[in-house]
Amino acid sequence: MNKITLIQGDITKVAAQAIVNAANSSLLGGGGVDGAIHHAGGPTILAECQVIRDRQGGCKVGNAVITSAGNLPADYVIHTVGPRWHGGRQHEDELLKNAYLSCFKLIDQYDIETVSFPNISTGIYGFPKERAAKIALEVITQCVRENTKIQKVNLVCFDEENYNLYFTLMA
Ligand code: ADP
Repeated sequence: MNKITLIQGDITKVAAQAIVNAANSSLLGGGGVDGAIHHAGGPTILAECQVIRDRQGGCKVGNAVITSAGNLPADYVIHTVGPRWHGGRQHEDELLKNAYLSCFKLIDQYDIETVSFPNISTGIYGFPKERAAKIALEVITQCVRENTKIQKVNLVCFDEENYNLYFTLMA
């Protein structure tokens, strides 16, 4: 059975055990999907992010942290920080891969069976969309193969360009 599903829409409206947020290192919220998640999820998510910040001083690029999901149709939000695109010579590919891998470490640790991912780094952070989609699909396919608990991974594309890219790459 194919466990990877492509969806076009708003990730805050897609029910899953965990929703991945494309956060920034401050963990204090921002624009794009981060803003949408905090807006829809309510203040408890930010409060938990603040506790993590006090403990470890935010989240490094390529890492991930987990909180509860407030009012979202989910149990958890996994906040990961993708790289900003600087032209490709600052380990952006590896850092994007690490962001997805860090999410799967938490997915394993918390026995999460269904998860939704946005297209990390392809908005405000400017990562080229096709390049990001190829990296995302490669890492996710491998992690799904290796993780016995995961049943469903939703790839939630907000913009049509990403949706079309994933559609073609997954055909
Ligand atoms: P980043 O800073 O990592 O680039 P953005 O939030 O700016 O994060 O963009 C990441 C991706 O999330 C973009 O492809 C953008 O279209 C998408 N996005 C924005 N809002 C939502 C949403 N509500 N649901 C799903 N994806 C979203």
